[in-house]
Amino acid sequence: MAEPSISTECKPGVGQESAGKGGERIVRTAPEGGPLVDVMGGAARWQINVHDHGFVALIDAMPRLIPAGTTADSAIVQAARVSYGAGTKKVSEDRGLTRYLLRHRHTTPFEMVEFKFHCAMPIFVARQWIRHRTANVNEYSGRYSVMTDRFYRPSAENVRKQSTVNRQGGEEPIDLSTAREFLDYLDACEANYKTYLSLSERGVARELARVGLPQNIYTEWYWKCDLHNILRFLSLRMDAHAQQEIQDYARAMHDLIAPIVPVTMEAFKDYEMDSVRLTRLEIEALRAGKATIETDNKREQAEWEAKRKRLGFGS
Ligand SMILES: Cc1cc2nc3c(=O)[nH]c(=O)nc-3n(C[C@H](O)[C@H](O)[C@H](O)COP(=O)(O)OP(=O)(O)OC[C@H]3O[C@@H](n4cnc5c(N)ncnc54)[C@H](O)[C@@H]3O)c2cc1C
Repeated sequence: MAEPSISTECKPGVGQESAGKGGERIVRTAPEGGPLVDVMGGAARWQINVHDHGFVALIDAMPRLIPAGTTADSAIVQAARVSYGAGTKKVSEDRGLTRYLLRHRHTTPFEMVEFKFHCAMPIFVARQWIRHRTANVNEYSGRYSVMTDRFYRPSAENVRKQSTVNRQGGEEPIDLSTAREFLDYLDACEANYKTYLSLSERGVARELARVGLPQNIYTEWYWKCDLHNILRFLSLRMDAHAQQEIQDYARAMHDLIAPIVPVTMEAFKDYEMDSVRLTRLEIEALRAGKATIETDNKREQAEWEAKRKRLGFGS
């Protein structure tokens, strides 16, 4: 990628200068050094629908324009070279540098890339999503506007049983008759929407009328975040321990940005998503060729067993 520099030596007709009123402040522009392309191919929106009424839509990116033949990963490398010096700038070396940065948790260059999304999700998903505090968010206001009658409903086959190993999770589908009972229960909750509308129309403040609505009603927001913190979000929310419904949104977000920052997302898969982190006890067990670690904690032991399987040891 050509490194644009601010300089007074731009050729006439390529770079431009403009002076302030008194001529005291001069803005100098530099040519990029080649044609620029839009990372979203000129589209206003890239949208992936999630569940029945949800979606994740990418609506803007920074950098939005990049030199032809590069990817938005180049903004990461460009920033990193402030600390590492210009050095060589071949595409293969850019890839190596990006991977090095991610592997060594040199994270700030990844904050130079940002993505803005428009998303719609049920409130119980939004409750988990909003915990990621480093994003900038603006949400639909149920005080200002009437909530729309869109509700999340899993299919009967997707109603999960309480997990026996993870107190926070669900696992395989529950029997069909209980699943149907669960869906009837959702019907009953959603029936309150009519009462909500009627009370709003009769003058109850929308900010109060809404408090009887169920958590599966949809909300929407604009959500902007830098790539470093998006990776953190994806790492936590694409993980099998996260609730299935938020995993589905995280995957959609992943799939939208992957073509724009392919080098980073490949490194993220290699060094984060598909990697295994080992504790001191686990390393000691590995070195001693033992199947168990030195702990009385059953959960920690089970986690080691799961890691052993991923590493190709054990049953
Ligand atoms: C599987 C799972 C289960 C969970 N269960 C629960 C639960 O039972 N109860 C619950 O309350 N939450 C729960 N959470 C939410 C979790 O505790 C975090 O709040 C959430 O994942 C956001 O993570 P974060 O704080 O790292 O992210 P962000 O808020 O995006 O922050 C990113 C990083 O920025 C830094 N940072 C941000 N804000 C501050 C700050 N104010 N001060 C210092 N550093 C800051 C920290 O390094 C932080 O790691 C769960 C999350 C997951 C993935």
